[in-house]
Amino acid sequence: MPGIEKNKNYTLEITGMTHEGQGVGRIEGLAVFIDGALEGEQVEARIIKLNKTYAVGKLIAVLRPSPGRVEPFCSAYRRCGGCNLQHMDYTAQLAFKTKLVRDNLERIGGLKDVIVHETIGMKQPMNYRNKAQYPVAEVNGSVITGFYAARSHDVIDSEDCGIQDTESDKVRKIVRQFIVEKGIPVYNEATGKGLLRHIVTRVGFNTGEVMVVLVINGNKLPASDELVRRLLESGKTMEDTVTSTEAAMESSGTAAAGTARVGKAGEGLEAYGIKSFYLNINTESTNVILGRKNILLYGSKTITDMIGGYRFLISPHSFFQVNPVQTEVLYSKALEYAALTGTETVFDLYCGIGTISLFLSAKAGKVYGVEVVEEAISDARMNAELNGITNVEFVLGEAEKAVPELYRKGVRAEIVVLDPPRKGCEESLLLMLAEMRPKRIVYVSCNPATLARDLKYLEAQGFKVAEVQPVDMFPWTAHVECVTMLQRASNP
Ligand code: SAH
Repeated sequence: MPGIEKNKNYTLEITGMTHEGQGVGRIEGLAVFIDGALEGEQVEARIIKLNKTYAVGKLIAVLRPSPGRVEPFCSAYRRCGGCNLQHMDYTAQLAFKTKLVRDNLERIGGLKDVIVHETIGMKQPMNYRNKAQYPVAEVNGSVITGFYAARSHDVIDSEDCGIQDTESDKVRKIVRQFIVEKGIPVYNEATGKGLLRHIVTRVGFNTGEVMVVLVINGNKLPASDELVRRLLESGKTMEDTVTSTEAAMESSGTAAAGTARVGKAGEGLEAYGIKSFYLNINTESTNVILGRKNILLYGSKTITDMIGGYRFLISPHSFFQVNPVQTEVLYSKALEYAALTGTETVFDLYCGIGTISLFLSAKAGKVYGVEVVEEAISDARMNAELNGITNVEFVLGEAEKAVPELYRKGVRAEIVVLDPPRKGCEESLLLMLAEMRPKRIVYVSCNPATLARDLKYLEAQGFKVAEVQPVDMFPWTAHVECVTMLQRASNP
């Protein structure tokens, strides 16, 4: 590699972005990946890793900034592993996500003429997460609670996280104050000693109900009654929440103000309060946050939240979408693409706790939800019952096994909804769908690369991709979610 040396600084033009949000430029033809650089910029970077096929650069200076560059709103941004696009204006983030989806469909899927709509963003892309898991650590004698640094287990202190719900941050601060006052020992990953490991919070955006789970390396938390009392006293109104958000929105260059919750999901909500307080026992040396055993110390076993008018029960272990405002947008799009008339049999594959199944139930004849995690299936059944829905049936098993079984029993779906994990669908499942020949497939995906691969396969099996709608579920990160509608093309 003539001319390029490690630890030397270079000036280069950023000509593209990776799917993870890194800027890409070239030095003497070699691709250089740089965190924090944006397409269209000229930057100075130090080469910190050099390979035959690529190099990694550390951003030293932005010599000619992109018009989409903004000052990150979070003081921990450079170190925290949570967000990685805070240096990009929100409108530019949405454009980046749309382009990412188009590029993947074209490059991996060979799909050139597909309609990919502009990414639907949030009106107020702040404080959108309803679930927080704060690690607790002691650094130089002080207790810190915050987030893991990128690619490590070093805990970074964070005063106010701009993407977490403000109630979560409030709880975090009360717990920290409490353990400092009481001298409660903090867990140390290296030695396995100490008590408090994580502070986990779940917030019902539409109900105001808050669940607090303290993960401990032991069976008891000293003076827990007092902590519960302090937390209960803290719950209430949310005037204080808007102010910090407004400041963040201004510094990020985004005009709107207010939290996601105040703006949409929580319209008219007066109060927030602790409804459930748990200790979770985790004495293992593991990266898994929650242990298996929960001890309820105050309030109800579950909290409730609502999406699209349906109620869902949330317990410490249950899965629930973390951005409820955009989840509603995503599922409404899935419902629109399903174009149900009231009589159809629908398969909701990879159904989780049945959120999409319930969403579709009102307009379908019958919905079958299929999911591999047993607890999720029992939550799904409970949620159906809670909402008085009787035309859904939940099947425990892998989609690629359960669907052929349903098919053998003579069950045929006219509409199929797919919402697989990042790795996408098994080919055998897609082949089975081709044999079953549903009228439409609605594919919800959190990974444009595997989406493109699966769409290519489905097109070869007689389906036609009609349109794709990206939705921004995770502002300030490079993640993008898509809903795609496919129609059966051939009529043999
Ligand atoms: N549709 C749900 C969850 C989507 S996440 C929602 O919107 O909330 C993907 C789900 O697929 C997870 O719940 C995971 O447990 C499940 N899963 C993973 N592999 C699976 C498989 N082979 N068959 C069925 N479900 C699977």
